[in-house]
Amino acid sequence: MTTATTDAARAFKGLTTAGRSDEELQELVRHAGAELELAPAEVIIEWAVATFGERFAITSSMGDAVLSHLASKVAPGIDVLFLDTGYHFAETIGTRDAVEATLPVRMLTITPKQTVAEQDAAHGKDLYLTDPDLCCALRKVQPLESALEPYDAWATGLRRDETPDRVMAPVIGWDESKRKVKVSPLARWTAEDVDRYIAEFNVLVNPLQYDGYPSIGCWPCTRRVAPGEDPRSGRWAGTAKTECGINF
Ligand code: SF4
Repeated sequence: MTTATTDAARAFKGLTTAGRSDEELQELVRHAGAELELAPAEVIIEWAVATFGERFAITSSMGDAVLSHLASKVAPGIDVLFLDTGYHFAETIGTRDAVEATLPVRMLTITPKQTVAEQDAAHGKDLYLTDPDLCCALRKVQPLESALEPYDAWATGLRRDETPDRVMAPVIGWDESKRKVKVSPLARWTAEDVDRYIAEFNVLVNPLQYDGYPSIGCWPCTRRVAPGEDPRSGRWAGTAKTECGINF
């Protein structure tokens, strides 16, 4: 265990930092953003754990367990937030259960205010067809914002090579709408880096990844892609929508 890991683990276990002001958080982003731009993913997570203690969590969509694996090495028991939209593939729920059973994490499953049936009754059946932005707002964006309230910072598995919108994603950034520090330890990773990490550490992967779904979201808005196709092209295929709103 490195010194930084020891410090990070100690901070996580013992030091529950009080919530910081927006100004303090933005100051942290200014300093750490430049400093950690070229740092390895583990070091970025170590910084976040040492800086925010228990006011730091990670999110996972359960496409794979790479970020959960990395974070749980640095801070066993770390909070992992999983947004259960009510529209997930069974394989995604199974991956969440397997991650919870095999990694030292505290899995927190976040659900929207309304069930799918309640949403159908309130907004009309299959809102994802008539107004996918509203559907994502109700089932992803709002639940995540509520779930992040106890935290000052959170990490995602976002990578710059995934979409043109993500090319400029900072390693340590300030999310103005959530007023939280957003950490992207894998921002500089490529798909090959992810594959290498999975192979080296035998990391859990959602089985749909091996069945034509390189990017996995809700089943109504995700389709298989052909080999060589843009991995994200299966998300909201046939529409101009490319993001659900939790990242941008
Ligand atoms: S991805 Fe589709 S089903 Fe899931 S919340 Fe967004 S619009 Fe609704």
